[in-house]
Amino acid sequence: MGRLETGIHKGRLTPAEYDANFSDLHPRLTKHEALVASDRCYFCYDAPCMTACPTSIDIPMFIRQISTGNPIGSAKTIFDQNILGGMCARVCPTEQLCEQACVRNTAEERPVEIGRLQRYATDTAMAENKQFYTRAESTGKKIAVIGAGPAGLACAHRLAVKGHDVTIFDAREKAGGLNEYGIATYKAVDDFAQKEVDYVLAIGGIEVKNGQALGRDFSLSDLSQQYDAVFLGLGLAGVNALRAEGEDLEGVADAVAYIAELRQASNKADIAIGRRVVVLGGGMTAIDAAVQAKLLGAEEVTICYRRGKEHMNASEFEQDLAASKGVIIRHWLAPKRILDKDGKVAGIEVEYTELRDGKLVGTGDVGVIAADQIFKAIGQTFEASGLGALRMESGRIAIDGEGRTSIEGVWAGGDCVAGGDDLTVSAVAQGRDAAESINRALAAATPAAAVA
Ligand SMILES: Cc1cc2nc3c(=O)[nH]c(=O)nc-3n(C[C@H](O)[C@H](O)[C@H](O)COP(=O)(O)OP(=O)(O)OC[C@H]3O[C@@H](n4cnc5c(N)ncnc54)[C@H](O)[C@@H]3O)c2cc1C
Ligand code: SF4
Repeated sequence: MGRLETGIHKGRLTPAEYDANFSDLHPRLTKHEALVASDRCYFCYDAPCMTACPTSIDIPMFIRQISTGNPIGSAKTIFDQNILGGMCARVCPTEQLCEQACVRNTAEERPVEIGRLQRYATDTAMAENKQFYTRAESTGKKIAVIGAGPAGLACAHRLAVKGHDVTIFDAREKAGGLNEYGIATYKAVDDFAQKEVDYVLAIGGIEVKNGQALGRDFSLSDLSQQYDAVFLGLGLAGVNALRAEGEDLEGVADAVAYIAELRQASNKADIAIGRRVVVLGGGMTAIDAAVQAKLLGAEEVTICYRRGKEHMNASEFEQDLAASKGVIIRHWLAPKRILDKDGKVAGIEVEYTELRDGKLVGTGDVGVIAADQIFKAIGQTFEASGLGALRMESGRIAIDGEGRTSIEGVWAGGDCVAGGDDLTVSAVAQGRDAAESINRALAAATPAAAVA
């Protein structure tokens, strides 16, 4: 198969090219590199980076521990706040979070490499399988967690530490949520998501039941009757429809499903990709789909976003990464119609857009971009059944400041709740904090019991 053949084909590259393209984006620092990088930290009092981290990791402390040759102690400092600190070190948009707040930016425009230092410490501890936590004496309480993504795993781990027995139910075959099925391949190589799941579950007291879907196999009220508390970490199972003519043509695909297929492929050569690919959207999913399309051997990949660069949800770093891989990002273009030839995608008609009185409108100026594959990355939606009368807000689950839903005994966190920022680290923070709230509620309900 020629690499420039029109249409959607597998095996466009050589095995060596696939290996090189999907290798680790930011490999782990060596010991020497970590010492040099840690030496740049001013160990600020009241450090702004800590406030900028959704899980409030004691960043100056963990960096100081690295600088004094104690990466294991450093990992403990990280895991105390964020048990998925290994994955967060790989996927956090640090340029918008901790590193954005680093005071080194002011003088040098180059922050301390907090994410990479975090990876150095957590990888060191995980490679040695250092476990830092033991379970408190059993409380006899049983908690159901629905969803084994970052929110559910963080919640389950903290509850297990407190001595509760946890059962996680997940609709998918593997645990990990989008860490396993969504994160770009080059951010989490070597099956890291499953290694991290195993590391988290090693605490004990957590049973994972895969292939079990809320709404299909059980309802929320079933769980409320059987368990002392329930945590919902369901993520976003639905995707927005494009509502454009030609959406059902062969060659039009949902970017999240495509990324999941790519993540699960043992051989990247088995994943077919178009010669000319258009990705619709402006978030992290659009960037990930576009970059990975390019890495799979697509000749031309164009992201079409209906607003300007400054409106894109994808960070500056992500946009630069896409550009560095040869992805073309075009702004102010809205999809109008997908064009076909013999029932297959042949291109997309787009219309230029502009803001008029704050409203996005089409200018009437249209054009065509040739394409044989189109990915929709226009946003995910909350989709679930079996939730009874649970109160929703803006299409997601409504919670209070502690993660409590409108139904007593039911908490929620992560992407499925209203008002979040749809980041891995925020899901971890919400899962962990809900676990603390559950623990307090159970302790208050059983004052005589020894709840840690
Ligand atoms: C393509 C893509 C790339 C991303 N890249 C990044 C990134 O680089 N950095 C970053 O910070 N964030 C990234 N994100 C966002 C991040 O992955 C999410 O914010 C995070 O995974 C949310 O965690 P969660 O636990 O709430 O949900 P999820 O990770 O979605 O986990 C939810 C779990 O619930 C299960 N579930 C759903 N419905 C049911 C049901 N009815 N019954 C039982 N189980 C159910 C699912 O199978 C899943 O395992 C990305 C998202 C996408 C889509
Ligand atoms: S968890 Fe993410 S935001 Fe927090 S310190 Fe680590 S890399 Fe930064």
